[in-house]
This record gives sequence, structure tokens and C-alpha cells, in this order.
Amino acid sequence: MAKEGHKYIFVVGGVMSGVGKGIVSSSLGCILKSRGLRVTAIKIDPYINVDAGTMNPTEHGEVFVLRDGYETDQDMGNYERFLDEDLPEINYMTTGRVYQEIIRRERNLEYRGKNVEVVPDVPLEVIRRIEVATEAAKADVTLIEIGGTIGEYQNIIFLEAARMLKQQHPQDVVVVMVSYVPIPINIGEMKTKPTQYAARSLNGVGLQADFILARAEVALDEKRKGKIAIFCNIEPSHVISAPDTKSIYDVPLNFEKDKLGDMLLDTLSLKGKRRTSLARWSKFAKAATDKSVPEVSIAIVGKYFDSGNFVLSDAYLSVIEAIKFSAAKLNRQPKITWVNSKDLEKGSAKALLGLKKFHGVIVPGGFGESGIEGKIEAIRFARENKIPYFGLCYGMQLMVIEYARNVLKLKNAHTTEIQKNSEDPVVDVMLEQKKHLADNKYGGTMRLGVYPAYLKKGTMARAAYKKELVEERHRHRYEINPKYVKQLEAAGLIFSGTSPDGVLMEIAELSREEHPFMLGTQFHPEFQARPLSPHPLFTEFLRAAISRKRKK
Ligand code: GLN
Repeated sequence: MAKEGHKYIFVVGGVMSGVGKGIVSSSLGCILKSRGLRVTAIKIDPYINVDAGTMNPTEHGEVFVLRDGYETDQDMGNYERFLDEDLPEINYMTTGRVYQEIIRRERNLEYRGKNVEVVPDVPLEVIRRIEVATEAAKADVTLIEIGGTIGEYQNIIFLEAARMLKQQHPQDVVVVMVSYVPIPINIGEMKTKPTQYAARSLNGVGLQADFILARAEVALDEKRKGKIAIFCNIEPSHVISAPDTKSIYDVPLNFEKDKLGDMLLDTLSLKGKRRTSLARWSKFAKAATDKSVPEVSIAIVGKYFDSGNFVLSDAYLSVIEAIKFSAAKLNRQPKITWVNSKDLEKGSAKALLGLKKFHGVIVPGGFGESGIEGKIEAIRFARENKIPYFGLCYGMQLMVIEYARNVLKLKNAHTTEIQKNSEDPVVDVMLEQKKHLADNKYGGTMRLGVYPAYLKKGTMARAAYKKELVEERHRHRYEINPKYVKQLEAAGLIFSGTSPDGVLMEIAELSREEHPFMLGTQFHPEFQARPLSPHPLFTEFLRAAISRKRKK
């Protein structure tokens, strides 16, 4: 069970999901950390999937890869960005993950012949994981966000864990309910009743909200605050208005304006006036929404499609945020346009010409065949027209295929991901991946997490990072085929980053004389971009994009 003195904040959802619980949790982390506390954050997702790696990002959002390679939900990315810290695997749990461990232990006789019961053994395992994460981070405060909403059947076991922890340590556990307060168009008035029902559902599982954060399009008025307080059984000052903001990075600042930090510290008896240090954050948040600065306009070319822009921005969340951080650093406002690569396939010269109006082009990570020829055409167009280009993972592999086809004149160059018996498999499956694929072992088997790369002197990559050895996060099964490296280099492609043994190509680029910025990474730099430390490659890409703009 929990150690005395550790503090736990559970963040749960009322009424409906998708109203920004992840941002609320991240923002609470940000303000508590700014007061000198050590904070860690845990995400609980109630599904059976052991991790998020096997889920479709256009339906479930981005798969965020942790440093240690665990494939998680995009909220983990938000926590890392708001806390400015790497989080380990233990900080992410799903029902599948929890049961997997319990079943493993049961098979190993670790329950010593006892019945293993859903209650209390499952919540006890949840609490054990919370403890391990807390210890690992040496945290003063652990934030635990329970995905979805209170009323969901599949969340009961996690809410039971919260209840058990609170029963043992009433002084050390706080429950924050993030609720949605709608303003139905035909009524035109803010309605608190759904929140009241949600608070009762929470009472039904033995928990009482200590704080209610009321998400709405606009701020709550005093009357609504009062209603929520009296009917949900909480102090009026603990009903916090959380209206829509211009940017998610304003949320911690708004919470501070409402003195949420002070109230949380009081409720958790973390006494002593602690100074906040949100000055750098606040400077960044201001820059991120500064509409007075010039725009830099970036095309993201992908196979989107049938899903509409709303979901898309979720599928590439870290890429978008990475662009924002570097743009803010360079005093620019990014304008992102989604370009459907299917529209760029051969014969659509007009659509390709359309790329000229952008200051830079990105082809992000991806899998499979759909729209791939259009992406390759976009890359060719960016190379020939000297439009700054940044390829992320698949975007690097396709950049190398394009170079092989059009410069090396290997017309049939391809990736074996798409063409198994390719005549010129410039991108090929990694040796250790072959067996996984043959055995249909897809979950958690890609090349995942952080690997080191050495950067060659005199390259753009080296100049951007300003160091020789970097560590970046990966998620792929295919790689640049070592058999083609010499030929590609002879034709002018520079492999500016490689694995320490020189076998795996980690970064490909063209020389500055050839192109203002044509660079691709086998890894995903976006996973390590942070508001207060933008990623150097995104920054250099945007710098090149800005200078193209000036020239125009
Ligand atoms: N599909 C490619 C691979 O598996 C690229 C993956 C990615 O872009 N994340 O290697």
C-alpha cells in the first residue's frame, strides 16, 4: 500500500470524454512542478489492448512512443511536454496490461494458492503500479488520469483502486472531476445538471470529488458555480471554471489565475508558500498565440482521408506540437495544411504545383501502400524546386526511394513493405523483424524507443544538434538497405546520422549546396520536442522555410 506522505491526484471525467482531461492533468502537473514539487503522471486507459501500438491512429489518435519504447496514448506525450520530463513504461496502464501481470503472477504461483479475485486483486495491482511509478520518479505528487468517464463499466476497477487508496490515506488523495457544462443551442443557457448526475455517479462508486473543473465554451458564472457546489457537495471555491482557451498552453496559466495551485496544496496539506516559476512557460505560451508575427506555411503530405481534419490533427499530434514549439522560438505563427497524397499521384501536375505556395513540406510517419506514390511525387517536387523538406520515418524512407528512382535511375526502387520481391529493395525489412512478421507477432515488436546515432561532421544534422552523439525515439520495422548505401552516397545523398556500428542509416540529407533543407530521419524527432526545448531539426527546417518565404 501507499507510503505515508505521498500525495495522489486522480483526474476523472464526468458527462463525456474528449473535453481535455489530458490537458487538465498535464496542466496540474505543470503548475505543481512550477512550485518546486516533484511530480509524475500516470495514464490509465480502460481497454484490453496491452498497449496502444496495435491501434489505428486515425481512430484513436497518435501512438506516442516513450523513451523506453513503450507504445502509449497521446496523453503521455502531453504529460511529457507539460512536465518537461521523460516518463517510463510503468506510467501507462491498460486493463490488458494489468490483467497480463496478474495472470503471469497467478501462473507462477505468486498468489500462493489463494483465489485471485477481480476485487481486490485487480485494484491492488493498479495501486501497486501507481506505487512503483511514484517510487521510480521519487515523486511528491502523482497524477493519475483515468481515461473515459466515470459512468463507464470498464472503469469501475480503476475507480475502485482510487477509492481503496483514499480509504487508506484520506489526507493524501484528491479527486478532480473534469466535467462538461453544455450550452444547448436551443436553450442558450449553461446547464449544470449533467455535471450533477456525474458527481452522483462518482458518489456511487464511493468517491467524492474534491474539485470540479467545469469545461465549457465560456467561463462559469457565479450562479452556476454555486449550483454545482451545492448539488455536488463541494466548496464553491473548488468549482473551477475551465473555459476554452486560444491554446492548450494557456491552461496552466489560467489555473494559476484561479489560485488552483494554492488550493491543491492546501487540500493536500503541502503547506508553505511556494513560489511559482512559470515565467518561461508564460513567455512561450504568449509567443505560441501571437498573431502579430508573420506566418510560416507548412504542408503535411499524407494519406488522410476518409476521416476529416478533426481526427487527423490527433493522429499527428506530436508533429504539430513540434512545429509550434520551433515556430514560437523563431517568432512565427505556423499555418499547417493537410495535403492528400492521393491527389499528387502521377499526372496531377496542377496539384503538385500547388505545393509551391508552401514554405516547407513534411511527410510524416506512416505504414502501408495507400497514397505512397503521391508522397514520393511530393518529395521529388520539393527536391527539384528546392522547397524545404523534412521526412519523418516513412518520410525518410520514401525520400531515399525517390532519390534512388530519379537520381540513381533505379526506376524500380521500392520498399519491401509494399513490394515483397522488389527488384531494388532500397528500403528493406530489418533482419530481426522478419521472424516477428512470419509469426504474426505485431504487438510491441517494432524497433522501438531510444537508440543512439552518430552525426557526421560538416552535415546539416550535426550543425543543427551541435553535438556528435544523439538519442532519438524509433518506431519502425524497415530500414535503408545497407546494400544500397554506397551507391546512394556516390550519387550525392549524405547519410549524416548512423547507428554506432554504422549499419543503420538514421538521417539522410542533401548537401546545402544542393538544397536549402532536404533531410529525413529514420526516428521520430517529434516525440522529444518540448515547449521549452524545441527540437533542433524542426527549428532548422522552419528556419529554412522562413528564408524561402523571404526570398519569394
Ligand atoms: N512503415 C515504415 C516502417 O515500418 C515506417 C514507420 C513509421 O513511419 N513510423 O519502417
